Amino acid sequence: MVYRTLGNTGLSVSQIGFGASPLGNVFGATDPAEGVKAVRDAIDAGINLFDVSPYYGDTLAEERLGKALSGVRDRVILATKCGRYGADIFDFSAARIRRSIDESLARLRTDYVDLFQAHDIEFGEIRQIVHETIPALREIQKAGKARFIGITGYPLGMLARVAEQREVDTILSYCRYNLLVSDLDARLTPVAKSKRIGLINASPLHMGLLTEATPPSWHPAPPQVARAAGRVVRLCRERGFDPAVVALRFCLNHAYVVSTLVGMSTPAHVLTNMKALECELTPEFLLEIENVIGSAKDVVWPSGRQENADAAAALEGQEQLK
Ligand code: NAD
Repeated sequence: MVYRTLGNTGLSVSQIGFGASPLGNVFGATDPAEGVKAVRDAIDAGINLFDVSPYYGDTLAEERLGKALSGVRDRVILATKCGRYGADIFDFSAARIRRSIDESLARLRTDYVDLFQAHDIEFGEIRQIVHETIPALREIQKAGKARFIGITGYPLGMLARVAEQREVDTILSYCRYNLLVSDLDARLTPVAKSKRIGLINASPLHMGLLTEATPPSWHPAPPQVARAAGRVVRLCRERGFDPAVVALRFCLNHAYVVSTLVGMSTPAHVLTNMKALECELTPEFLLEIENVIGSAKDVVWPSGRQENADAAAALEGQEQLK
């Protein structure tokens, strides 16, 4: 395993991180015993970053991860989130976040998390995130319940603007750097670099599209993206590669991203994904992949409040925060 330092935190995290949302049956029903073994195998393989949220499976993922980590909590860097509690349930108030940490700690069977993140901030009001949510996260850090704090979300402009206004230790972005979309560097990486913020890239498989499984019904990608992903999967198979391994390797090659979170709930997926560490992708093969993706590359979808969308962000600039 390769380890990198997570921005200014000093934490040394594995280049492959364990995304625990599948433990909450987000992508379909999973077997709890397999989930426990997946977590244990991942730790034995050197994975030390585990990411979860109360939102995943309506607290089920936290419950299951907490159980799986029992007795091995001190071997991992544990990240959870707050502010999002359902598909349409958000509360970024300081009061809710103070309750949220205690609820998460109970489910995770620990008395601190290493990273506490405001989840999908584009669904909140930017003013509240900057002036209330992040200060509340810092209070929780001061109280010793979280070692570091961060933000997560989809629109890159909003993540960047918030990080420019209020100090955060980490930013987690998803579906913005993988074989299908790679606009992360255009907007977010420069801000993260200049402030030495630990950048975490999630969803290397584009939330399951770059696998042979049928995508979940909630998947927001438009049909042309799903079709392009299918062509990538077939091409990888024709060339004798596992598509998940290729997709994960591509993300691991990013020069600044500290850790790539891949969602796992089975020992088989842990075993397969570890092969990405040894896999090498030639420029010719990557070009072939680009060609089969064609015009479906860099297609994004709306997420969150309209005023937080990237186009609006560019127009409104800093004004909103004043
Ligand atoms: P992903 O791209 O990692 O895909 C996960 C899906 O791929 C699951 O169905 C999983 O079972 C499957 N899979 C994993 N390895 C496989 C393999 N080798 N072969 C076949 N299928 C395989 O998407 P994700 O889970 O959404 O992202 C990873 C993690 O990042 C999440 O679990 C979560 O922890 C985090 N995340 C956070 C946010 C946020 O904060 N807003 C958003 C997305 C993801």
